[in-house]
Order: sequence, then structure tokens, then C-alpha cells
Amino acid sequence: MPAVSLNPSGPALVAEARRIFTARFGRAPTQLVRAPGRVNLIGEHLDYNYGPVLPLAIEPQILFATAPNGLECVRLWSAVFGEGCEISLTEPLMRGEPGWSNYIRGVLAGWQRSGRTLPGFDAVIVSDLPAGGGLSSSAALEVGMATLLEALTGAPLIPEEKALLCQRAEHDFAGLPCGFMDQFACVFGRADHLLLLDCRSRETTLIPWTADDLVFLVIDTQVKHDLATSAYAERRRTCEAAAHRLGVTSLRDWPEARLSEAESLLDAVAFRRVRHVVTEIARTFAAASAIRTGAWSELGRLMFASHDSLRDDYEVSCAELDEVVRLTQELGEAGGVLGCRMTGGGFGGSAIALVRREQLGWVWERLRSAYMCRFPRGVKFIVTRAADGASVLFSSQ
Ligand code: ADP
Ligand code: MG
Repeated sequence: MPAVSLNPSGPALVAEARRIFTARFGRAPTQLVRAPGRVNLIGEHLDYNYGPVLPLAIEPQILFATAPNGLECVRLWSAVFGEGCEISLTEPLMRGEPGWSNYIRGVLAGWQRSGRTLPGFDAVIVSDLPAGGGLSSSAALEVGMATLLEALTGAPLIPEEKALLCQRAEHDFAGLPCGFMDQFACVFGRADHLLLLDCRSRETTLIPWTADDLVFLVIDTQVKHDLATSAYAERRRTCEAAAHRLGVTSLRDWPEARLSEAESLLDAVAFRRVRHVVTEIARTFAAASAIRTGAWSELGRLMFASHDSLRDDYEVSCAELDEVVRLTQELGEAGGVLGCRMTGGGFGGSAIALVRREQLGWVWERLRSAYMCRFPRGVKFIVTRAADGASVLFSSQ
């Protein structure tokens, strides 16, 4: 059985950030900030339908070591990418090279736009959060940078304003018209809590996670099928057109009790898309209730049902994700798995499973070997508890 430790690299990452900063900039950092990745427990393809989502911030994170430099520029170094850049603060902030610096340029621009002063500083970025792996390293980069600016200037943003500033950075500077779930999870996440985020009202509710014997296992299939981008746009259009046809502003407003009525008004494909959205909204609220009342088996059942709906009605799963979920279903509660589903946009990426901690080693081994029989590329695992949102770890000021 493999040794399973939660968040093994936290302290090592802090030491690495300090060491690299000192080596590159010839002095010690004055601030250290961190920003977590996130995973969505349930509520998939609901953000653009103005529904609820239920993410958690995870332990893998991006860490920034920083100090003011007294210059009119920002000097950055990303240890993951092994490259750095210098951004002038005397000229208007624009997109530039390297690509990853745009998430940061976007946050700097948003900070300036808010009328706050932007001091020159140096920063080193280290991370144990996979970049581009569907765990939202982009939001961690943005929210981490906003947190760094708060720490350097002592001028905090209102949390919602901070998340929205970061979302806009991704829209304007990275060219990605994303929703705001990732940035909200990274700002509002709390250790051992799930975040119920209403994508219509933007209301956030932290729900305590009291099951100490359960952990979240993120199972990365390491595949991304080409369909992902075009299918996302197509699903979104179908939902908007269906809402229009049903005479509601968004599918959030269509009650589950009226699904059969919707069936008579829509073509078969559009109806299945609507059925996913409407039932997933109900499952997400039911999952929040299950967490509140400690109904863990029920939560697991809702996760499996969510996967079925994404596979059959929304048709955004793929053979690899279906295989992971099938294997976990085979293990079942007796084998240590309460529930499992694909998470994220689909067509690859990761699944999330709810696993009993004491059976984790067995689940891990079983999944790894059985999955490899069909998909030799194998899976990667991340075990996590719900983590805190972005925070300042150290500040000498
Ligand atoms: P995800 O958010 O799912 O990880 P994205 O494609 O949205 O995937 O964002 C990944 C991008 O974020 C990377 O390509 C890179 O530009 C940037 N990024 C992530 N981590 C780092 C890092 N440690 N240093 C610099 N840039 C990073
Ligand atoms: Mg991202």
C-alpha cells in the first residue's frame, strides 16, 4: 500500500520559494502568499445556466515570495516554467510574453483600474498545482497575485471585488471568457468547508465538512479530447436557445416538476441537455443538504447520479472518465468509495471521488492497476482535504 500523506509538499514549497527568491534577487522576501487550486464536487455545467456549484479549494497551491524593489517595474520568475519577465509600470499594461505573465498583467491592470497605487516589486512563483490540469492554476495565479498586492500595499480588496477583478484579468488578458467559479473558490474557500456558490446571485455559503474519515481523491486521466472547446460552446448555445424556447431567462428558472412539459416543447437532444441542467441543480442543492446533515452515502449517490447525467444526457464524458467511475462503482462503499463523478468541462480531465481514508491505499492501488488494463497511460492521483482560500503566510511589514 502506498504511503498516503495529505499536503506533503506545503513546508518544502515555502522553503523552495524563499531559497529561489534569495538566489535570484539577492535578498530575503518580505512577504509570502499562497493561493489554492479548486475542484468542483458537484454542479457541473451549471455556472452559465446561473445554477449553484459546490467547489472546494484544494491543498495543491501556487506560492509567491515577494519584496518591494523600489523600481518602476515588476520582475517575475516562475520556477515551474523556468523563465521570468520584467513588466514596466511606466507604460500602459498590455498583453505580452511569456504567455503565463498575462494572467498577472491582467491583475496588475485591474489593480490600477481600481485606483490603487502599484509599487514596483520582485516575485518568485513556485507551485505543486499542475498547470493546465483542470484544477484551476490560472485562477490561483490571478488570486495569488491580487493577494500579493494586498499584502505589499496593505490595501485589501473586498473579497467579491477581488474574485471578479481576477475573472476579468482572465477575460481581458488571457482571452478566456471563463465563469467566476474558479476565482470565487480560490478567494472564498475555507479549510474543511465546501463552498456553495450561487452563480445567479453570487451568494456564497460555506458548509462545514464534518467527515474526518473521508477524503477527496482527484483522479486525473491525463487526457484532453479535442471536442472540449467546441462542445462547451455548443452546449452553452443549446441551453440558451432552450431557455428562450421555454420562455425563461435561464434554465435555472425551469422547475424540475415541469420537465415533462419541457419535453413536449423541445427536440430530443435539447430536452436531454435541459434535463441534465434541471436535475443537476436539484442534485447540487441536495448535496449541500446531505453535507449539512452528514448523509454521506446520499452525497455519494448524488455524485454517481451526476456522472450518469453528464454521460447520458449532457454527453460530455469520455471512455476514460467512464472507466474511472465504473471502477469506483464496482468498489462501492464496502470497498471505500462513496461516490465518484467527472469534474470540470469533460472530454477528459479529472474525476473526483469521495473515499474513506483508511481504505485509500487499497482504492488507489485497485484503480491504478485496473484502469491501466484498458488505458496504459494510467491515472494520476491527488488526495486532498478542503483547504483555505488564498492567504498571506508571512509578512515582515
Ligand atoms: P488550469 O487553470 O486548469 O490549470 P488553464 O489553461 O486555465 O488551466 O491555466 C493554465 C495556465 O496558467 C498555464 O498555461 C500558465 O500560463 C499559467 N500558470 C499556471 N501555473 C503557473 C505557474 N506556476 N507559473 C506560471 N504560470 C502558471
Ligand atoms: Mg484555468
